[in-house]
Order: sequence, then C-alpha cells, then structure tokens
Amino acid sequence: MSRSDSLLSDIQSLVIHGDLDWNHPESNDTALAPAIHTASTYGARSSAEFADMANAPRHPRYYARYGNPTQERCERLIARLENAESALLCASGMGAMSTSLLSLVKAGDHIVAQSAHYMGTAQLLNDLLPNLGVEVTLVDQRDDAAFYGAARPNTRLIVVETPSNPTLALTDLAAVARFARERGILTLADNTFASPINQRPRDFGIDLVLHSATKYLGGHSDLIAGVVCGDEAVVEKIWKRSLALGTNVSPFTSFLLLRGLRTLPLRVARQSESALALARFLEGHPAIARVHYPELESHPQHALFKRQMQHGGGVLSIEFAGDDDKGYAAAKKFVASLRLARHAVSLGGVETLVVHAASMWEASLTPAQMKAAGISPTLVRIAAGLENAADLQADMTAALAA
Ligand SMILES: *Cc1c(COP(=O)(O)O)cnc(C)c1O
Repeated sequence: MSRSDSLLSDIQSLVIHGDLDWNHPESNDTALAPAIHTASTYGARSSAEFADMANAPRHPRYYARYGNPTQERCERLIARLENAESALLCASGMGAMSTSLLSLVKAGDHIVAQSAHYMGTAQLLNDLLPNLGVEVTLVDQRDDAAFYGAARPNTRLIVVETPSNPTLALTDLAAVARFARERGILTLADNTFASPINQRPRDFGIDLVLHSATKYLGGHSDLIAGVVCGDEAVVEKIWKRSLALGTNVSPFTSFLLLRGLRTLPLRVARQSESALALARFLEGHPAIARVHYPELESHPQHALFKRQMQHGGGVLSIEFAGDDDKGYAAAKKFVASLRLARHAVSLGGVETLVVHAASMWEASLTPAQMKAAGISPTLVRIAAGLENAADLQADMTAALAA
C-alpha cells in the first residue's frame, strides 16, 4: 500500500488529493490548481525519447489526441473513485459509450443489454451495431435470469445501466457479474445516475464502469465529457480505438471536470437527501399517482437498492393521477408552473431540472414506442439540484396547486 492509500480512505479526502501521483511526488506541480496543458504536440529531447513517447501506452506528452497531463490527473482521480486501475476520459458520455462498444465487439459477436437504456446508447444497440454485424438482445433489467437466458456462445459483452431512465429500475449488479465471470463475458455498467458516491459497480464484480461526466461528476451544467474505467489492459484497448475515432476530451474540459470533482461527495449527498425528501412529500400528495425512487420503501426493488446503493441519488420521477389525457395535461401544467426548478434536459447540476418525458419524446417516438419504454404520458422526471429542499418543496406545492 502506498503512502496515499491509507490517508485517502475517505472519499472526501480522495477527491481533494486523489489526482496526484503520490508515488512520484517530484512529478507533481507545487501549484494547488492543475495546469491546463493546451499544447497539441510535445517535443522530444532525443530520438530515444521520441521513440519512448510514440510507443509508450498512453504517454501524456506526445500528441494531444493521445492524452495530456491535465486529462491524466483527472483520469487518475476518477479511476480511484471507481475502484479501478485506469480510466479514459472522452469528449462526451456517448463518446465513451461508442468508443467502448466499438472496441469490445466485432461483427459476429453478441451483446446482451437492457430494454431501458439512455436514448443514445439505445440507438447504438438498436441501429449502429446491428448494421455492423453485431447481434444484440435486449432484456428486462429487473429480471436477472433474463440476462443468463439471453446469453449465447458468441456473447462477448453485457451492458447494464442502473438506476435507469426514467422509472429508476435497477439491475442486480452482483448477479449479472457473477454469471458473466463464469462465462468469460465482459460487463459494462453505465453508473451515471448513481455516481460513485452512491454505487460502485466494480465492488460487485462489474468490469467496466462508464459515466456521462456531464452529469454528477462535472456537476455544474458547464461541460460535456464521458469516462470509462476498468482494468488497465481493457482501458488501453479502448484508448487505442479512441485514437482512430477521435473521441478525446479537451484539456480545458479535463480541468473543469477535476474542479467539479472536488465537491462531488458533498453535492451528491445533498442532492440525494433532497430527492428523498421530495419523493416522500410527492408520494403523499393527492395529485400524484406514483413516485419512482429506489430509496422509497414502495420501490419494487427496494431490497436490491439496499444491497447495492448507499442512497437513491438525485433523480426521481413522478406520475400524475388521472387518465392519460388528464395526467398529460396536469404534468405539462406542473412543469410550466415551477419557478425554481428549470425546465431542461440533463441532471446532476447545481440547479433542479425537470422534464416531461412524453412531450420531450413525442416528436421522435410513437405512443406505442413510449409505452414499450415505460414512459407514461403523465410522467415527469425531477433531478434535484442544490437549492434549499424546503424551497424546492414550496415551489412544487405551488405548481401542484396551479
Ligand atoms: C447523459 C447520459 C449519457 C450520455 O452522456 P453525454 O455526456 O450527454 O454524451 C449516457 N448515459 C446516461 C445514463 C446519461 O444520463
């Protein structure tokens, strides 16, 4: 164990110091804020050094599509947060997802994934990969036997996302990982909604953990980035593919992300607390038929929540009472009447955001497709920010009265 590991056992200490390589303190800058290395290319002092730079795996000072020192610091911290050897930052969550998938499977391989995934991930699984000759089977994530049932001899990868959008359904990470390990199948978990504060998939045996760093990791609605973490050999394989795909992150974004990460545990603890308070309040409100939030005892997978999550996270969703037409109108009115909570996509920022799922997707999905994706016309997703929880509740009380 290195000097750092025992001192950084608490996550709040880790996010403040975990980007430094304590085994090589001389390589660390004495400046307390990281430098933003904007160089696109780096000079070698000799032919031997040039050869080293060009051939080393992931040299941070060679050519900036391959990485840069600001990015390296940010990756070191995120890897530690996810209990992984290595991390690769990408230009967006979808950059991390597409680069990972295109690195790990080839034509003739088979993927098992969920029927509920982030829209962009679903597009890769339903459209891009099948067009490249990769077979994909989608299963109900709530049924862990469905993952085993769908596996075939050519299954190379299982992709999970938990909690998933928009109904906060959970996947049993330990059950999926155990089975996949027995069969030699790689597993990848999108951990965006939980964040490493509320759930660490690698602690349950998952191989690769992916985030849209745009959300909780960045935390201030001012950057787009993604990250994938895992064992060094697999991350290096994904990095090699990223060189050809050009999905690298910028040095400035790496800096902003590192700055956001310093407060990740504080922010997520507060957002989770506020989301639980809102979930309890809304569950008791007569205008609301259903509240989806894993930390509520009424969540159908609450026992699984207790096994694999610390808290429910900052996102909940609600369904309005009444038939589809009446509930649809009520949901629309609610979202339009809020004063503090902003009406915008995304989550994980300091501001509370709400979206009415059906009106967001009515241009791209038919009512039948929405039903299949579990999107009720009356459903509103709420992503708690850092405002005072009582103020948020007052805002919602007034909007519900409207
Ligand atoms: C936002 C999101 C993504 C995509 O991330 P971008 O940074 O927007 O590319 C992937 N998965 C989940 C769960 C997300 O919420």
